[in-house]
Amino acid sequence: CHNELVRLKGNIRVIARVRPITKEDGEGPEAANAVTFDPDDDSIIHLLHKGKPVSFELDKVFSPRASQQDVFQEVQALITSCIDGFNVCIFAYGQTGAGKTYTMEGTHENPGINQRALQLLFSEVQEKASDWEYTISVSAAEIYNEVLRDLLGKEPQEKLEIRLCPDGSGQLYVPGLTEFRVQSVADINKVWAARGLGAGSAGLNLVDLAGSERVGKSGAEGSRLREAQHINKSLSALGDVIAALRSRQGHVPFRNSKLTYLLQDSLSGDSKTLMVVQVSPVEKNTSETLYSLKFAERVRSV
Ligand code: ADP
Ligand code: MG
Repeated sequence: CHNELVRLKGNIRVIARVRPITKEDGEGPEAANAVTFDPDDDSIIHLLHKGKPVSFELDKVFSPRASQQDVFQEVQALITSCIDGFNVCIFAYGQTGAGKTYTMEGTHENPGINQRALQLLFSEVQEKASDWEYTISVSAAEIYNEVLRDLLGKEPQEKLEIRLCPDGSGQLYVPGLTEFRVQSVADINKVWAARGLGAGSAGLNLVDLAGSERVGKSGAEGSRLREAQHINKSLSALGDVIAALRSRQGHVPFRNSKLTYLLQDSLSGDSKTLMVVQVSPVEKNTSETLYSLKFAERVRSV
């Protein structure tokens, strides 16, 4: 069944979203804009890095003018395909402050993919309810320092493990992870500890990853350093998994981190994955932006 799992559909789409320049970016040359777009081709993004222009081609690029609804329109079909039995995974990637949480969660006035996806799922399911019986349950977990924790449980400190289903199906599950049956988006809002992994949701995983920035630059120390190293472990393991999938290697090292282990079903088999690379447009962030966009191109070529 492991071989079944690693059989890849090659279906990873990669889009970029550039956030607007904000007050927090400060003033002066550091906050100057370094990202431009191709007026005739919305899959191209240009970055000016240390005076050198670099271009990347992805599946789609959203400029700072794109609304939450514009972005959602792009992922809508993917969301509904989980009703047809596909594993769907959408994850946001990029350095801290690049807009991952804004895209996935959004704000109260301007909800992001999470809210819109659940709203859409409920309306789709209601439409089909006369022919089919559906139940939707929600669970949420976070990965922090390589420890998986239940975000909806009574005992939030409880550590959880990821296991293979004993039925030999090759499916992964998390014993003890709290699941709530929900009937409406309002129900979900009561239980949804928004951030983190939404494992469950009818085969839908919506993931707001930790910042992708490298440890050296952030100058972290002590427990913050440990945190950064763990975050890096998950992200570099994700890079390794993607490289292995890309080279069609027999062995894909899903088990090297909690993140890749959890995403195993989503990254292989009957699955559709979308990565949203979040980009900061300003000059002072171009090294991280370059790194993120290179990673994005690597993922896209899987
Ligand atoms: P991250 O989760 O990657 O650390 P955030 O989502 O918290 O980044 O975004 C950093 C800041 O930029 C927040 O204040 C957020 O509201 C703002 N922001 C990000 N993307 C957008 C956007 N597309 N439009 C308006 N504001 C945005
Ligand atoms: Mg965030």
